[in-house]
Amino acid sequence: MLEIDLGAIVANWRALCAQHPSGPVAGVVKADAYGLGARPVAAALYDAGCRHFFVAYLEEALCVRDMVPDAMVAVLSGPIPGTEAVYAEHDLTPVLGSLAEIDAWAARGPAILHVDTGMSRLGLSAANLDTLAADPARLNGLHLRYVMTHLVSSEDPEHAVNEAQRHRFAAARSRLPAAPASFANSSGLFLGEHFGTDLGRPGAALYGINPTPGQPNPMRAVVRLRVRVLAVRDIPTGASVGYNATWIARRPSRIATAAFGYADGFHRSLSGKTTACFDGTPVPLVGRVSMDLTTFDVTDHPGVQPGCWFEIIGPHQGVDDLATMAGTNGYEILTSLGRRFHRVYLPA
Ligand SMILES: *Cc1c(COP(=O)(O)O)cnc(C)c1O
Repeated sequence: MLEIDLGAIVANWRALCAQHPSGPVAGVVKADAYGLGARPVAAALYDAGCRHFFVAYLEEALCVRDMVPDAMVAVLSGPIPGTEAVYAEHDLTPVLGSLAEIDAWAARGPAILHVDTGMSRLGLSAANLDTLAADPARLNGLHLRYVMTHLVSSEDPEHAVNEAQRHRFAAARSRLPAAPASFANSSGLFLGEHFGTDLGRPGAALYGINPTPGQPNPMRAVVRLRVRVLAVRDIPTGASVGYNATWIARRPSRIATAAFGYADGFHRSLSGKTTACFDGTPVPLVGRVSMDLTTFDVTDHPGVQPGCWFEIIGPHQGVDDLATMAGTNGYEILTSLGRRFHRVYLPA
Protein backbone atom coordinates (compact mmCIF):
# COMPACT_ATOMS: atom_id res chain seq x y z
CA MET A 1 0.00 0.00 0.00
CA LEU A 2 1.49 3.28 -1.14
CA GLU A 3 0.33 6.22 0.94
CA ILE A 4 0.90 9.62 -0.67
CA ASP A 5 0.47 12.61 1.62
CA LEU A 6 -0.86 15.49 -0.49
CA GLY A 7 -0.85 17.68 2.63
CA ALA A 8 2.90 17.14 2.98
CA ILE A 9 3.42 18.04 -0.71
CA VAL A 10 1.47 21.28 -0.20
CA ALA A 11 3.40 22.01 3.02
CA ASN A 12 6.66 21.45 1.11
CA TRP A 13 5.52 23.80 -1.66
CA ARG A 14 4.71 26.50 0.92
CA ALA A 15 8.12 26.01 2.54
CA LEU A 16 9.80 26.34 -0.86
CA CYS A 17 7.80 29.52 -1.56
CA ALA A 18 9.21 30.97 1.67
CA GLN A 19 12.66 29.91 0.46
CA HIS A 20 12.22 31.93 -2.78
CA PRO A 21 11.03 35.45 -1.91
CA SER A 22 12.07 36.85 -5.32
CA GLY A 23 9.15 35.28 -7.17
CA PRO A 24 6.53 32.55 -7.26
CA VAL A 25 7.36 28.85 -7.15
CA ALA A 26 6.12 26.43 -9.79
CA GLY A 27 5.31 22.76 -9.34
CA VAL A 28 7.33 20.41 -11.54
CA VAL A 29 4.95 17.49 -12.13
CA LYS A 30 6.76 15.70 -14.96
CA ALA A 31 7.02 11.90 -14.98
CA ASP A 32 3.60 11.62 -13.34
CA ALA A 33 4.72 13.94 -10.53
CA TYR A 34 7.86 11.85 -9.96
CA GLY A 35 5.71 8.73 -9.92
CA LEU A 36 3.25 9.99 -7.31
CA GLY A 37 0.35 10.93 -9.61
CA ALA A 38 0.38 14.13 -11.68
CA ARG A 39 -3.37 14.75 -11.56
CA PRO A 40 -3.92 14.57 -7.78
CA VAL A 41 -0.63 16.34 -7.07
CA ALA A 42 -1.31 19.16 -9.55
CA ALA A 43 -4.84 19.59 -8.19
CA ALA A 44 -3.58 19.83 -4.59
CA LEU A 45 -0.91 22.38 -5.54
CA TYR A 46 -3.42 24.38 -7.58
CA ASP A 47 -5.83 24.48 -4.61
CA ALA A 48 -2.97 25.79 -2.47
CA GLY A 49 -2.39 28.63 -4.94
CA CYS A 50 0.27 27.28 -7.29
CA ARG A 51 -0.23 28.78 -10.77
CA HIS A 52 2.82 27.51 -12.69
CA PHE A 53 3.43 23.91 -13.67
CA PHE A 54 6.16 22.18 -15.66
CA VAL A 55 5.97 18.80 -17.37
CA ALA A 56 8.41 17.06 -19.71
CA TYR A 57 6.15 16.09 -22.60
CA LEU A 58 3.02 17.27 -24.35
CA GLU A 59 1.03 14.19 -23.28
CA GLU A 60 1.80 15.00 -19.65
CA ALA A 61 0.56 18.55 -20.15
CA LEU A 62 -2.72 17.33 -21.64
CA CYS A 63 -3.07 14.96 -18.67
CA VAL A 64 -3.00 17.78 -16.08
CA ARG A 65 -4.48 20.68 -18.07
CA ASP A 66 -8.06 20.36 -16.76
CA MET A 67 -6.88 20.05 -13.13
CA VAL A 68 -5.19 23.46 -13.22
CA PRO A 69 -7.45 25.79 -15.20
CA ASP A 70 -5.86 29.18 -16.02
CA ALA A 71 -2.47 28.12 -14.66
CA MET A 72 0.63 28.12 -16.86
CA VAL A 73 1.46 24.59 -18.00
CA ALA A 74 4.90 24.54 -19.62
CA VAL A 75 6.40 21.64 -21.57
CA LEU A 76 10.15 21.35 -21.00
CA SER A 77 11.07 19.19 -23.97
CA GLY A 78 10.03 21.67 -26.67
CA PRO A 79 7.32 21.27 -29.28
CA ILE A 80 7.68 18.37 -31.70
CA PRO A 81 7.17 19.80 -35.22
CA GLY A 82 3.50 19.64 -36.14
CA THR A 83 2.19 19.83 -32.56
CA GLU A 84 2.19 23.65 -32.31
CA ALA A 85 -1.57 23.86 -32.87
CA VAL A 86 -2.20 21.49 -29.94
CA TYR A 87 -0.25 23.84 -27.68
CA ALA A 88 -2.31 26.80 -28.81
CA GLU A 89 -5.59 24.92 -28.50
CA HIS A 90 -4.95 23.89 -24.87
CA ASP A 91 -3.13 27.07 -23.81
CA LEU A 92 0.11 25.20 -23.15
CA THR A 93 3.43 27.03 -22.98
CA PRO A 94 6.28 25.49 -24.94
CA VAL A 95 9.87 25.73 -23.75
CA LEU A 96 11.80 26.60 -26.91
CA GLY A 97 15.39 25.42 -26.95
CA SER A 98 16.59 25.71 -30.54
CA LEU A 99 16.44 28.15 -33.46
CA ALA A 100 14.24 25.69 -35.35
CA GLU A 101 11.75 25.64 -32.48
CA ILE A 102 11.77 29.44 -32.29
CA ASP A 103 11.08 29.72 -36.03
CA ALA A 104 8.34 27.07 -35.96
CA TRP A 105 6.59 28.65 -32.98
CA ALA A 106 6.81 32.21 -34.37
CA ALA A 107 3.97 34.32 -32.94
CA ARG A 108 1.57 31.61 -31.86
CA GLY A 109 1.46 32.71 -28.23
CA PRO A 110 3.56 32.92 -25.07
CA ALA A 111 6.65 30.76 -24.86
CA ILE A 112 9.62 30.18 -22.56
CA LEU A 113 13.12 30.38 -23.98
CA HIS A 114 15.60 27.83 -22.62
CA VAL A 115 19.29 28.78 -22.55
CA ASP A 116 21.95 26.10 -22.09
CA THR A 117 24.44 27.19 -19.42
CA GLY A 118 26.20 23.90 -18.83
CA MET A 119 23.90 20.90 -19.17
CA SER A 120 24.46 20.40 -22.92
CA ARG A 121 21.13 18.67 -23.39
CA LEU A 122 18.46 21.13 -24.49
CA GLY A 123 18.46 24.90 -24.75
CA LEU A 124 20.07 27.57 -26.91
CA SER A 125 23.85 27.25 -27.21
CA ALA A 126 26.27 30.16 -27.13
CA ALA A 127 26.45 29.94 -30.94
CA ASN A 128 22.64 30.11 -31.16
CA LEU A 129 22.73 33.27 -29.02
CA ASP A 130 25.29 34.79 -31.41
CA THR A 131 22.96 34.03 -34.31
CA LEU A 132 20.03 35.66 -32.53
CA ALA A 133 22.12 38.70 -31.58
CA ALA A 134 23.04 39.14 -35.25
CA ASP A 135 19.44 38.76 -36.36
CA PRO A 136 17.22 40.02 -33.53
CA ALA A 137 14.18 40.17 -35.82
CA ARG A 138 14.02 36.40 -35.49
CA LEU A 139 12.47 36.92 -32.04
CA ASN A 140 9.95 39.49 -33.28
CA GLY A 141 6.43 38.56 -32.31
CA LEU A 142 7.63 36.01 -29.75
CA HIS A 143 5.93 36.66 -26.43
CA LEU A 144 8.61 35.66 -23.95
CA ARG A 145 7.01 34.55 -20.73
CA TYR A 146 10.33 33.56 -19.18
CA VAL A 147 13.93 32.92 -20.07
CA MET A 148 15.12 29.85 -18.17
CA THR A 149 18.15 27.67 -17.61
CA HIS A 150 18.79 24.57 -15.53
CA LEU A 151 21.44 23.94 -12.87
CA VAL A 152 23.92 21.10 -13.29
CA SER A 153 25.03 20.42 -9.68
CA SER A 154 22.86 22.50 -7.40
CA GLU A 155 22.78 19.77 -4.73
CA ASP A 156 26.50 20.45 -4.24
CA PRO A 157 26.67 24.08 -3.03
CA GLU A 158 30.49 24.03 -3.16
CA HIS A 159 30.60 23.18 -6.85
CA ALA A 160 32.07 26.03 -8.92
CA VAL A 161 29.66 25.31 -11.78
CA ASN A 162 26.78 26.93 -9.84
CA GLU A 163 28.38 30.39 -9.96
CA ALA A 164 29.59 29.84 -13.51
CA GLN A 165 26.03 29.08 -14.61
CA ARG A 166 24.69 32.11 -12.79
CA HIS A 167 27.10 34.33 -14.74
CA ARG A 168 26.44 32.59 -18.05
CA PHE A 169 22.70 32.96 -17.50
CA ALA A 170 23.02 36.68 -16.74
CA ALA A 171 25.17 37.15 -19.86
CA ALA A 172 22.67 35.26 -22.01
CA ARG A 173 19.75 37.28 -20.66
CA SER A 174 21.54 40.53 -21.47
CA ARG A 175 21.65 39.46 -25.13
CA LEU A 176 17.94 38.57 -25.28
CA PRO A 177 14.85 40.77 -25.10
CA ALA A 178 13.97 41.67 -21.51
CA ALA A 179 11.85 38.93 -19.91
CA PRO A 180 11.33 37.42 -16.46
CA ALA A 181 13.79 34.68 -15.50
CA SER A 182 13.43 31.16 -14.11
CA PHE A 183 16.49 29.45 -12.68
CA ALA A 184 16.47 27.36 -9.50
CA ASN A 185 15.32 23.76 -9.19
CA SER A 186 14.83 22.25 -5.70
CA SER A 187 18.45 22.42 -4.55
CA GLY A 188 18.96 25.71 -6.39
CA LEU A 189 16.41 27.28 -4.03
CA PHE A 190 18.88 26.58 -1.21
CA LEU A 191 21.92 28.14 -2.91
CA GLY A 192 21.18 31.62 -1.62
CA GLU A 193 19.40 34.76 -2.76
CA HIS A 194 21.60 35.20 -5.85
CA PHE A 195 19.87 32.19 -7.33
CA GLY A 196 16.42 33.66 -6.76
CA THR A 197 14.55 34.76 -9.91
CA ASP A 198 11.00 35.43 -11.07
CA LEU A 199 10.03 31.74 -10.94
CA GLY A 200 11.43 28.79 -8.96
CA ARG A 201 11.08 25.32 -10.50
CA PRO A 202 11.31 22.62 -7.81
CA GLY A 203 10.24 19.04 -8.30
CA ALA A 204 12.11 16.64 -5.99
CA ALA A 205 11.81 18.71 -2.81
CA LEU A 206 8.03 18.87 -3.20
CA TYR A 207 8.03 15.09 -2.94
CA GLY A 208 10.22 14.97 0.16
CA ILE A 209 13.62 14.33 -1.42
CA ASN A 210 16.33 16.18 0.52
CA PRO A 211 17.43 19.22 -1.53
CA THR A 212 20.41 19.72 0.82
CA PRO A 213 22.21 16.33 0.87
CA GLY A 214 24.50 15.93 3.85
CA GLN A 215 22.37 18.34 5.89
CA PRO A 216 19.11 17.60 7.72
CA ASN A 217 16.21 17.30 5.29
CA PRO A 218 14.15 20.52 5.48
CA MET A 219 11.23 18.89 3.63
CA ARG A 220 8.40 16.75 4.99
CA ALA A 221 8.24 13.07 4.02
CA VAL A 222 5.50 12.40 1.48
CA VAL A 223 5.40 8.64 0.87
CA ARG A 224 4.92 5.65 3.06
CA LEU A 225 5.12 2.18 1.50
CA ARG A 226 3.85 -0.93 3.22
CA VAL A 227 3.79 -4.44 1.78
CA ARG A 228 1.88 -7.52 2.86
CA VAL A 229 3.50 -10.68 4.19
CA LEU A 230 2.13 -13.58 2.12
CA ALA A 231 3.78 -16.52 3.85
CA VAL A 232 6.04 -17.44 6.76
CA ARG A 233 8.02 -20.69 6.85
CA ASP A 234 10.61 -22.43 9.01
CA ILE A 235 13.75 -23.62 7.29
CA PRO A 236 16.61 -25.75 8.66
CA THR A 237 20.26 -24.77 8.93
CA GLY A 238 21.84 -24.98 5.48
CA ALA A 239 18.65 -24.25 3.50
CA SER A 240 18.94 -21.57 0.84
CA VAL A 241 16.57 -18.65 0.19
CA GLY A 242 15.69 -17.27 -3.23
CA TYR A 243 17.31 -17.29 -6.67
CA ASN A 244 20.95 -18.34 -6.90
CA ALA A 245 20.97 -19.37 -3.22
CA THR A 246 22.75 -16.16 -2.22
CA TRP A 247 21.59 -16.56 1.39
CA ILE A 248 22.01 -19.78 3.38
CA ALA A 249 20.50 -20.23 6.85
CA ARG A 250 23.25 -20.50 9.49
CA ARG A 251 20.69 -21.49 12.11
CA PRO A 252 17.13 -22.83 12.01
CA SER A 253 15.36 -19.77 10.58
CA ARG A 254 11.96 -18.29 9.86
CA ILE A 255 11.54 -16.63 6.49
CA ALA A 256 8.72 -14.22 5.62
CA THR A 257 7.84 -13.71 1.96
CA ALA A 258 6.40 -10.28 1.14
CA ALA A 259 4.30 -9.28 -1.86
CA PHE A 260 6.57 -6.96 -3.82
CA GLY A 261 9.68 -7.12 -5.95
CA TYR A 262 11.66 -5.47 -8.69
CA ALA A 263 8.60 -5.32 -10.94
CA ASP A 264 7.30 -2.81 -8.39
CA GLY A 265 10.40 -0.66 -8.71
CA PHE A 266 12.11 -2.18 -5.68
CA HIS A 267 15.61 -2.33 -7.12
CA ARG A 268 17.19 -5.78 -7.34
CA SER A 269 20.42 -4.14 -6.20
CA LEU A 270 18.84 -3.86 -2.74
CA SER A 271 19.15 -7.65 -2.34
CA GLY A 272 20.64 -8.28 1.10
CA LYS A 273 21.13 -4.56 1.72
CA THR A 274 18.07 -3.19 3.46
CA THR A 275 15.46 -3.80 6.11
CA ALA A 276 11.74 -3.61 6.52
CA CYS A 277 10.21 -2.22 9.67
CA PHE A 278 7.87 -4.40 11.71
CA ASP A 279 6.45 -3.21 15.02
CA GLY A 280 9.13 -0.54 15.20
CA THR A 281 12.07 -2.92 14.70
CA PRO A 282 14.16 -3.55 11.58
CA VAL A 283 13.80 -6.90 9.81
CA PRO A 284 16.65 -7.80 7.42
CA LEU A 285 15.98 -8.51 3.77
CA VAL A 286 17.71 -11.75 2.81
CA GLY A 287 18.39 -13.39 -0.54
CA ARG A 288 17.66 -11.94 -3.96
CA VAL A 289 14.84 -9.52 -4.57
CA SER A 290 12.75 -11.28 -7.22
CA MET A 291 10.10 -9.94 -9.57
CA ASP A 292 7.03 -10.21 -7.34
CA LEU A 293 8.41 -11.54 -4.05
CA THR A 294 11.00 -10.49 -1.50
CA THR A 295 12.18 -12.46 1.55
CA PHE A 296 13.03 -11.39 5.08
CA ASP A 297 14.66 -13.18 8.02
CA VAL A 298 12.07 -13.01 10.80
CA THR A 299 13.69 -15.58 13.10
CA ASP A 300 13.96 -12.92 15.79
CA HIS A 301 10.46 -11.55 15.15
CA PRO A 302 8.00 -14.22 16.31
CA GLY A 303 5.06 -11.83 15.89
CA VAL A 304 5.32 -11.87 12.10
CA GLN A 305 2.45 -13.84 10.55
CA PRO A 306 0.96 -14.10 7.07
CA GLY A 307 -1.23 -11.05 6.48
CA CYS A 308 0.82 -8.61 8.50
CA TRP A 309 2.45 -5.55 6.97
CA PHE A 310 6.08 -4.57 6.59
CA GLU A 311 6.95 -0.93 6.18
CA ILE A 312 9.51 -0.39 3.40
CA ILE A 313 9.48 3.41 3.14
CA GLY A 314 8.52 5.37 6.23
CA PRO A 315 10.00 7.07 9.27
CA HIS A 316 12.58 4.28 9.80
CA GLN A 317 13.89 4.50 6.24
CA GLY A 318 13.21 7.37 3.89
CA VAL A 319 13.35 7.59 0.11
CA ASP A 320 16.89 9.02 0.22
CA ASP A 321 18.08 6.24 2.56
CA LEU A 322 16.77 3.60 0.19
CA ALA A 323 18.39 5.41 -2.72
CA THR A 324 21.79 5.38 -1.01
CA MET A 325 21.51 1.63 -0.36
CA ALA A 326 20.46 1.03 -3.96
CA GLY A 327 23.29 3.15 -5.35
CA THR A 328 20.96 5.68 -6.94
CA ASN A 329 19.12 8.88 -6.03
CA GLY A 330 15.70 9.54 -4.57
CA TYR A 331 14.40 10.64 -7.96
CA GLU A 332 14.91 7.17 -9.39
CA ILE A 333 13.37 5.48 -6.34
CA LEU A 334 10.20 7.59 -6.59
CA THR A 335 9.80 7.42 -10.37
CA SER A 336 10.28 3.63 -10.22
CA LEU A 337 7.57 2.99 -7.64
CA GLY A 338 5.32 0.45 -9.29
CA ARG A 339 1.79 0.79 -10.51
CA ARG A 340 0.73 -2.43 -8.73
CA PHE A 341 0.76 -0.87 -5.27
CA HIS A 342 -2.66 0.09 -3.99
CA ARG A 343 -2.45 3.88 -3.75
CA VAL A 344 -4.04 5.93 -1.02
CA TYR A 345 -3.96 9.73 -1.18
CA LEU A 346 -4.08 11.56 2.14
CA PRO A 347 -5.95 14.79 1.35
CA ALA A 348 -4.27 18.16 1.63
C1 LIG B 1 13.27 18.22 -13.56
C2 LIG B 1 13.54 19.64 -13.75
C3 LIG B 1 13.36 20.56 -12.71
C4 LIG B 1 13.06 20.13 -11.29
O1 LIG B 1 14.28 19.63 -10.74
P1 LIG B 1 14.35 19.09 -9.24
O2 LIG B 1 15.80 18.81 -9.04
O3 LIG B 1 13.52 17.86 -9.18
O4 LIG B 1 13.82 20.16 -8.36
C5 LIG B 1 13.50 21.91 -12.99
N1 LIG B 1 13.84 22.32 -14.23
C6 LIG B 1 14.05 21.47 -15.25
C7 LIG B 1 14.45 21.99 -16.58
C8 LIG B 1 13.93 20.10 -15.05
O5 LIG B 1 14.16 19.26 -16.05
